[in-house]
Amino acid sequence: MKEIKMTKIPKCDFCGKPALYDAPTRNGPWGYMCSGCYADHGTKGGLGSKLVVSKGLNISEEDKKKKKKTVMPTMEDMEMAVMDGVWYPKCPYCGCENGCEPDGESVFCDDCGEHYEVGNCC
Ligand SMILES: [Zn+2]
Ligand SMILES: [Zn+2]
Repeated sequence: MKEIKMTKIPKCDFCGKPALYDAPTRNGPWGYMCSGCYADHGTKGGLGSKLVVSKGLNISEEDKKKKKKTVMPTMEDMEMAVMDGVWYPKCPYCGCENGCEPDGESVFCDDCGEHYEVGNCC
């Protein structure tokens, strides 16, 4: 069975537990299923894909070549960086805020596992 890398595991369509498969059900439509519901509702024969969590640790060569997104600090961010020695760029991928040093150049987002570049505050 092939694997799909996801940054967040979706919920099982049947019971709401973390899903393990994206596969066709016996009724036809595809859905996310946990292992228990896959046994109950999934089709035989290994159709579908297994979901694996990707925290961005095994970034493929292709992804590395893609240009990273950059977040530029606003005036307020710069003031905060000078005052507090830290500022909070917003992750361009998921929108959550991550603490960053004033002279930081790249940030790793704990929330979605993406890296992005930040403009220099100094
Ligand atoms: Zn389930
Ligand atoms: Zn993020």
